[in-house]
Amino acid sequence: MINDLWYKNAVIYCLSVETFMDANGDGIGDFQGLMRRLDYLAGLGITAIWLMPFQASPGKDDGYDISDYYNVDPRYGTLGDFVEFTHGAKQRGIRVLIDLVVNHTSDQHPWFQEARRDPASRYRDWYVWSEQKPENADQGMVFPGVQKSTWTYDEAAKAYYFHRFYDCQPDLNTANPHVQAEILKIMGFWIQLGVSGFRMDAVPFIIAKKGADVKKPAEQFDMLRTFREFLQWRQGDSIILAEANVLPETDLDYFGEDGDRMQMMFNFQVNQALFYAFATTDTGPLVKAMEKTRARPQTAQWGLFLRNHDELDLGRLSEKQRQAVFAAFGPDKSMQLYDRGIRRRLAPMLKDSAPHIRMAYSLMFSLPGTPVIRYGDEIAMGDDLSLPERNCARTPMQWSREPNAGFTKHDKPVLPVIAKGPYGYQHVNVAAQRRDPQSMLNWTERLIRMRKEAPEIGWGDFTCLDAGDPGVLAIRYDWRNNAVLIVHNLHSKPVEVEIDPDIGEQGHLLIDIADGDNSEADDRGRHCLLLEPYAYRWFRVGGLDYLLRRTEI
Ligand code: BGC
Repeated sequence: MINDLWYKNAVIYCLSVETFMDANGDGIGDFQGLMRRLDYLAGLGITAIWLMPFQASPGKDDGYDISDYYNVDPRYGTLGDFVEFTHGAKQRGIRVLIDLVVNHTSDQHPWFQEARRDPASRYRDWYVWSEQKPENADQGMVFPGVQKSTWTYDEAAKAYYFHRFYDCQPDLNTANPHVQAEILKIMGFWIQLGVSGFRMDAVPFIIAKKGADVKKPAEQFDMLRTFREFLQWRQGDSIILAEANVLPETDLDYFGEDGDRMQMMFNFQVNQALFYAFATTDTGPLVKAMEKTRARPQTAQWGLFLRNHDELDLGRLSEKQRQAVFAAFGPDKSMQLYDRGIRRRLAPMLKDSAPHIRMAYSLMFSLPGTPVIRYGDEIAMGDDLSLPERNCARTPMQWSREPNAGFTKHDKPVLPVIAKGPYGYQHVNVAAQRRDPQSMLNWTERLIRMRKEAPEIGWGDFTCLDAGDPGVLAIRYDWRNNAVLIVHNLHSKPVEVEIDPDIGEQGHLLIDIADGDNSEADDRGRHCLLLEPYAYRWFRVGGLDYLLRRTEI
């Protein structure tokens, strides 16, 4: 039963087909290329791939502007290639999640084209129109500074249309039952082609009431149950991982009190508090964020991440906290985006300090939830701030020292490969790191193995223990008579801490499952730990056979 809920302890790897591997030499990544790299991914140990949008698209928002939901963009291959890919992944025990972008379509989608041309079209009401310019047209932009409005006049329709994102992305009228039925049909289609579920884009906007007269958009949470039920009928173990940057008070509305809505959500609260902790060595707000997001149904799970393909959104921090993170990791205006975030990759943010970067990933992997990493993280890739907006962190995967990082044989890759400076592919690439046992790549593989061996994290209850230093986070997980204790030192200096695992006799012996030493408690039942700068210590609590755990599960 525990393995049926595969997502509770998965390791998810997010990638964009376009920038991962180009097999046909046209400069654009494709499914054939991705298939050639499946063994690499299996070797890394990840258990699921999340594919960013690959459907037909004019590509004005990196594929998040879809013009045909039922086709692979020809630049990446065919539906045949897609099925070969899902089959190949399945053979290696890797599940596939795909992005489901249904808050909006591309303005080039035939539905929108027909809707704007013909007021009598059945597609007219698939979008959100207003004859007058709504009063709040200059509010609610998701991309402030780049996006001017949320309502744009369309000459052909002779009306304004609503778009929460860029003006090339008209919002679907998701309250329309025909639109809802189409969303289910899209899910059903891809499920049939071998996927295990969806990363659902922009969920709060999908379920929000939309319209010119809507002042404060109320969410229609029932819709989430409809999506869930449909999926479960079609394929019992498929899931939805919701992108919903919402307040903890509403978490249960998304998961459903009885666990009957989204199986997973990204934990944006914890993500932002994590970066605050890295910036200041104060884990207080992180512990608070973990506590506030503790409540969730047994079958639900958080998706945890450090950086994703978007900016690091710091909008949920207080002004003072946000400024502290900006000062540490994105002091220059060119590193910031949309008045709320930082657009860099993690390695340059942490000044390429290997111990700091590894501690950051180890900490993220040890928090309550399922870790989600992004292509290139495993080799600590950098960014190219000369590229606009979020593209700076979307450069092609760096495979080798060959021209264009071995990503393509073409001399013009779809996005420039990082070729200069310390993050250039000559220095940072998979081929070189494979050969070095101490590389980030081989370290990541070990981290993934360690996380898989600690299912308590995905299933158990957590307790944050007092280490007497806000820069040290000690978390104990308990589950079915098994326990792990994980300690991180966020300081750049060594510290000595005393920790009481608070679990009775069982806590006397801590067995290190990373690369340090075991620890025995003193007479008072306390462990004195000397932690190196940025140390990460993963302990199995008690028991001699640490790999087999106390209770077989
Ligand atoms: C995605 C973005 C995208 C937006 C519009 C998001 O939340 O993560 O990359 O631009 O949705 O689809």
